[in-house]
Amino acid sequence: MEPDELEPPLPPPPPPQPIIEEEEGERMCRYCFDGEEEGELIAPCACKGGQRWVHLECLRRWQRMVLVSQPTHPMFHGDDLRQQTCNVCKQPYTCEPPTRHDLMRSFTGVEIASLVDVGCIIAAGEEFSRELEEQLDGMPPYLRHASSYEHWCRSAYVITGVQDDDGLYELTLDTERSLERLREALGSDGATVSLRGKRLRATARGSLEGAEDIGEALAALEAPATVVLVEVNADGTPTPRSCGDDHVAAVNVCRPLPEDWDNPRSRAAVATALDTISTKFGAEWREECDKVRLVHHVGGPCDARSIVRCFVLGTGGARGYSIVESLPDAMLLAARLAKKASESRDLSQGIGPGARVRLQNLATATDLNGVLGVVLDTARGDRWKVALASEDGTSRIVTCRPETLVPETSSLYGHPPTPIEQNESSDDDESMDGGIEAAPPAEHGAPITSDATPATGTVLCFWGDARWSRTQLLGEIARGHWGMCRAYARDVHAAPDQRRSGLEDRLVFAPVTAMTEESIVRARTQMRPLREQARLAAQGEEGAAEDAASPRRASDASNEPPPPPSPMGSP
Ligand SMILES: [Zn+2]
Ligand SMILES: [Zn+2]
Repeated sequence: MEPDELEPPLPPPPPPQPIIEEEEGERMCRYCFDGEEEGELIAPCACKGGQRWVHLECLRRWQRMVLVSQPTHPMFHGDDLRQQTCNVCKQPYTCEPPTRHDLMRSFTGVEIASLVDVGCIIAAGEEFSRELEEQLDGMPPYLRHASSYEHWCRSAYVITGVQDDDGLYELTLDTERSLERLREALGSDGATVSLRGKRLRATARGSLEGAEDIGEALAALEAPATVVLVEVNADGTPTPRSCGDDHVAAVNVCRPLPEDWDNPRSRAAVATALDTISTKFGAEWREECDKVRLVHHVGGPCDARSIVRCFVLGTGGARGYSIVESLPDAMLLAARLAKKASESRDLSQGIGPGARVRLQNLATATDLNGVLGVVLDTARGDRWKVALASEDGTSRIVTCRPETLVPETSSLYGHPPTPIEQNESSDDDESMDGGIEAAPPAEHGAPITSDATPATGTVLCFWGDARWSRTQLLGEIARGHWGMCRAYARDVHAAPDQRRSGLEDRLVFAPVTAMTEESIVRARTQMRPLREQARLAAQGEEGAAEDAASPRRASDASNEPPPPPSPMGSP
């Protein structure tokens, strides 16, 4: 994202010395100046004399330091090869540096690294947001907009995709001039360029499809053209890809546009989507889809002029959401869900989740006929979940058809129950601990239709997204910029201004390491007493004393209870 300024204390770089053969004196490590008594000495490069020997451990430490001191954005890595190559004799070290990916993962911890996955959330940390805000405050308006800071500040990004990197780079060359610039940059083989420290070679793809001599074909190419480049090693073989090269894409769920937001681009996108639906499924579905409520969001800085992802919210009793790529698909899904929900409402004589019912006409479990229960979930139109009360006060959950339920007006527990806050994992039938709680009296007998989302269906549309390589993202998390957690459906269903704050207690941050940005360490040190104070004030004294004795840290993440499953229960 930005070149970092962290400068860890590096061991003194070895002074350049003429490479001369000299009599072997006492062997000494060029980093720590200790001898063999401190560990085996190796000669990792072509240096001779006093520069020749190092402890493997010392060299590794140096390589890690170099990697840590580098910015997290891959664009800035190319020039700094000190971890790979001896800066005296310029030979590559025989002992390879750790990969950036392994190193970053060692800083974030495996628990956090494993959260870089679809359906998890990356949220800007408080210190990081405040730092960005301070910088934004000092900027003139046009710069504010040009900087990407507004995209990161107090953001919560839901990861929508993690894709393998194929090592291919596609260049779109619209003009002769841009084509000319590429030709000028080509190396002696007429097909390879150096870009951002990478060697890239043109392939027989895109406009060069089928070309036998790439160099010749490139020379003859005319604009507009698409050239596909592959990353290659110095010897010309394709560079192997690792999972650290994975592309992570995510959308910010915290920047909705006003509900009445309307501009030519969004109008065009919606019109095109409706036309597509009409062509494929007919005018009837076009009409249904036209009713779908669209909520536009600023999703992120990449590809910001188009809708790159849609979230289709569950309708009626279902509180999941589905991540869909294209707007027509999303609108169609939303319309179908809405239709299904309204059909099951018709079928149910107005009974919705939370309504009290009596079972009847059951053909198999006849002993349950006449038993009272509370409707929990109507998400699957033909199979509803109903909690049955039993004598001992426990509840049992059954699934039954809507037509086997009749509304019950007599009171079940003294008080009529209110709709139950739906557990995220709707398949988890046995987990109704907490059970059915008696609630303040509601209007007696009134069917309660819990209808958080209107029958028209809702699609969140994200204009643009954010993209990182997995290693880059881990690096930024290791710096302390971002916290992570699993996304629950409620995070997406919540009001936009509560989506970030709702994560506060669940976010896990990387432990403080050599990677952590100094300003963040400072801010955290300053904030800790304040936070403790606030916590003490907020809690009973007993609980607080206990809590202060074991402050919550990111490194404790593994001790936390496992998060509920099914982050993206699709309805
Ligand atoms: Zn040493
Ligand atoms: Zn050397």
